This record gives sequence, C-alpha cells and structure tokens, in this order.
Amino acid sequence: MRRKSTVGKNRSLTIGIIVIGTLFLVSGNLLLKMYLSNADGDVNAQQIENHLNRSTAVNGKEFEAKMTLAAIGDILIHDRVYEDAEIADGYDFKPMLKAVKPELLQPEILLANQETILAGTEIGLSSYPSFNSPQEVGDAIIDAGVDIVSTANNHTLDRGERGALASIDYWNKVGLPYVGSFKDTADQQRLRILNQDGIKLAFLSYTYGTNGIPVPVGKDYLVNLIDKEKIKEEVHRARQVADVVVMSIHWGNEYQRFPDNQQQDLAAFMAEEGVDVIFGHHPHVLQPMDWITNSDGRKTFIIYSLGNFLSGQMWDYKDIGGMASIDITKHSANGETTIQLDNPQFYPTFVASKGQRNYRVVPLLEAGKHGLENAEAKYTETVSHVFQFIK
Ligand SMILES: [Zn+2]
Repeated sequence: MRRKSTVGKNRSLTIGIIVIGTLFLVSGNLLLKMYLSNADGDVNAQQIENHLNRSTAVNGKEFEAKMTLAAIGDILIHDRVYEDAEIADGYDFKPMLKAVKPELLQPEILLANQETILAGTEIGLSSYPSFNSPQEVGDAIIDAGVDIVSTANNHTLDRGERGALASIDYWNKVGLPYVGSFKDTADQQRLRILNQDGIKLAFLSYTYGTNGIPVPVGKDYLVNLIDKEKIKEEVHRARQVADVVVMSIHWGNEYQRFPDNQQQDLAAFMAEEGVDVIFGHHPHVLQPMDWITNSDGRKTFIIYSLGNFLSGQMWDYKDIGGMASIDITKHSANGETTIQLDNPQFYPTFVASKGQRNYRVVPLLEAGKHGLENAEAKYTETVSHVFQFIK
C-alpha cells in the first residue's frame, strides 16, 4: 500500500504519475515503431496488445484506480494541551500523536477538522472560549499524515479577521491545503482538488455559525457559512472537475450522540446535489455512519460526527474519537466513468491524560494501558454505536 504523510509527497506523486505516464506513451510509441518496422510478421502480437493496453490506460480510455479516503475529527487545543506540549524553544505536539501515527498513515488521503486557528504566539495563544493555538499543532498533524484541513468552524473568527488570516498564512507557508476559511474571494472560489492516482477529489467545508461573532461586512470569504444555495452552486461546480466531492461540515448539537433532523435534512440535500462523502463534526462526540441512497441510485457515505480527535475535553464520550475511512474505486471504460464507494471502516481512539498532563491520542482498544477503565468494553460499544445505522 502506498503511504505518504505530506502534501509534498502528494505533489511529487502527481508529478511522478505524469512523468511515468509520459514515459509509457513515449516508450510505447518507440516500441510500436520498432515492432512495425520489423514488419516480417514475427512480432509478438500479444506483447504489442498488452503494451497498447497500458498506453490506453494512461490515455484514460481504460482505467481503474483504488484508494482509501479518511478523516479525523476536531483538533481542539485547550491551554492545558498546549502547555503540556511546551518545550524549550516552542511546542511539540508530535509525541501526542505518535501512538496512532502508523494507522493515520494508512489511507492515501486524510482530512482533519482543525477547529482552532493556528495564528501562533505572535497574537498571543488562547483557550476556551476564544481559541488560538501554536502553529506546531499543524506541524504535528502534517507529520502524522494529514493531507488537508477543514477550517470552517464555530471558532474560525475567535480572534477576529487578523487571527483567521494569520492562520491561513501558516497553512500557505507549510503548503498544506486548507478549505473553509479563505484569505480573499479568489481563494474562496478556488476549488481544492487533490489528485490521487488519477482519482480527483474536491474538498468543501462549511460551518453552521461562528459563536455569534459577526463575519466582517464584505468579507464572507473569511468563513463559509452553511447556505443551501451556496453549497449547491459549489457542489455543482466541483462535480464538473472532480470524480468525488467530499464535504467537511460543522453542525449538530454539542454532546448529542445522534444526528438531529436538521443534520439529516441537510445531509440528504447535499447528497442529492452531488456530494459523495460527508464528514461531520462539532458535537465533540461520535455520531453514527450511514449510507444515503439518492434518487439517481448513487450512494453517499456519511459520518454525522467524528468526535474530538485531540482536545482537553474529558469524560462522557468527549475523549473518544477516531478515524473514519471509505474505499473509492474509479473505473473508466468506453468513455464512461463510474465511482464506487465501499468498505466503511472506523478506528476508535482515546485521548489519554493524567492530571491535565501527558496528553496522548491512543488506540481505544489499548487505552486500558493508559488509565481508561473497561477500555475493551468501551471499544466494543463505540464500534457498535458508529456502525448501528449500516448493519
Ligand atoms: Zn465546533
């Protein structure tokens, strides 16, 4: 399985594919010319046919690719978490993700919901209710395999326009794609498309609100607010250029383990308009996965809430989160492309800590070793909770 952990690798992958594709075409032509010039009839027809098949695969006439897409929930950094990460010359959050990093590196593309802005120490770090986190949080999630972050959250404007823009500057500096909060209208209009082995995925992100903080007049690009007409327009635009449309959405009621009617209605709307995968978050606890069957027979995969992935919140399911994943197969033949989604999986995680120190995201199944009582029973309960709609 191909593993990668940075966007840099992502880009080099794409470039690699183009280079290899070109090489195939060039060498295919050369070989074909060689075979044709040797026109005495003793050419291995099978060999040519095989080779041509490979060339046509590159041309897109016959094509099959498979990948795994995954997401983790809220990265919500309270002061007790960043104080725990403090080192001599800054912050280091990498040890907090070390135990789950091998699993996070498995999917080809991993999305995280970066709930708090990463404007860094320059404007002063802060915690609930107006968060601003160290930029080393971003360094750690990139190191752990995150390929893109959603940034439309109720905390996007916690530290105003300045905070939101400083956070975007950080993402641009490190080269990680972000979606949901933008530096200007042109940035907002630019679709985020990741190309994984010829499967093009468009990432979209919206939030229900910004905790009552008004969006500055004329600066709607600072955060995508849920608006059916806007979502519809962007989904349709994304469908023109992408094979798979992925929505990362901030919604629902905090601490509720099941979606409400509003979430279900909006999910059905987005699915019907063309969203293929919906990753929900904000409730801080896990809500189940489901399949939505659309009027054209197409299926949309949804997890209503991914819970917290790394936060300072404890108890009542708030310290249980995980990684949801889905396999995507693209098949093209005779000018027709089909996308198949299957094999939904969930990898439950737990945020272990001791006296508000030593925060570690660990596999829930092994959380007993990190002080969680009845970890195995909680693992079983979590898996059945998440899968209950699709069993
Ligand atoms: Zn939230």
